[in-house]
Amino acid sequence: MKCRVCRGKAVIEVRRHNAAFCRDHFVEHVQRQVARTIHDFRMFSPTERLVLGVSGGKDSLALWDVLTDLGYRVDGVYLDLGIDGYSPDSLTYSRRFAEKRGLDLEVVDLKHRYGFSIPEAAKASRRTPCSACGLSKRYILNQVAEEGGYDVLVMGHNLDDEAATLFGNVLQWNVGYLARQRPVLPASDDGLCRKVKPLVRVAERETAAYAVLRGIEYEVEECPMAAGNTINRYKEWLNRLEDRSPGLKAQFLFGFWERGQQGFTDAESVELTTCTTCGAPTTGEVCAFCRLQAVTLVEVGRRREAAGG
Ligand code: SF4
Ligand SMILES: [Zn+2]
Ligand SMILES: [Zn+2]
Repeated sequence: MKCRVCRGKAVIEVRRHNAAFCRDHFVEHVQRQVARTIHDFRMFSPTERLVLGVSGGKDSLALWDVLTDLGYRVDGVYLDLGIDGYSPDSLTYSRRFAEKRGLDLEVVDLKHRYGFSIPEAAKASRRTPCSACGLSKRYILNQVAEEGGYDVLVMGHNLDDEAATLFGNVLQWNVGYLARQRPVLPASDDGLCRKVKPLVRVAERETAAYAVLRGIEYEVEECPMAAGNTINRYKEWLNRLEDRSPGLKAQFLFGFWERGQQGFTDAESVELTTCTTCGAPTTGEVCAFCRLQAVTLVEVGRRREAAGG
């Protein structure tokens, strides 16, 4: 296998691009894919203030590395979810990465700031952990971006994440989600920061390879709450299809954005109001995060009382 660019020994094959690359040209290839995504979707400019949601995993740290190398100044925010056996290590990897490169990382402790952890929220609300977690991340990262005066919230979702999410939304015809699943969500006057996903052209195995080739240490253990996560199942199914037809995942996702999504967006324009508890934008009276927080705090208090403390 030879590198497409220099004909030297290739270290990775990217079948959907019908190409293989040596170390340096693969790094260059990934960075070019990200630069092209930022440009094509008009995600942000070098003068805007960017904050990246950092999890300590390969995607967010690889993206932080790429953006820094492309010349963007990006701060990070790590949300400590309070998941035993996972959160402490993820935080260590995030901190180490930021320190080594002289980058700013803000740490938000869910339990400390909002009074509950993800396992507690999942139990109290009878949601799956990933649903309670996704909802909390969306709310809190947006709040951090707004409070910090950032122009853009950057997320590390990769091609596999987005294709699997789209697949799930199509299987269940979640039209509201289909209307909003985009690589760029514009800011709104009522308190939503612009949200962008510059890694959508890079597959999961490519972000992992990028991280390894760049010497980035990241959390390789999967979150213990991920068991039974439907997105992971959809990823497996799509990988089987991709094996037979390289390029299919990208075609599915980008075809949706180019040709399918506008119809859902037009049909689903919803009026946002203000949450009566916290003031965040919402479609109901009280936003989903405040509802989650309220039921969890009641349950946490009840347990504490029952335990006699
Ligand atoms: S696997 Fe689920 S619970 Fe764990 S970090 Fe991811 S979304 Fe959160
Ligand atoms: Zn090469
Ligand atoms: Zn609220």
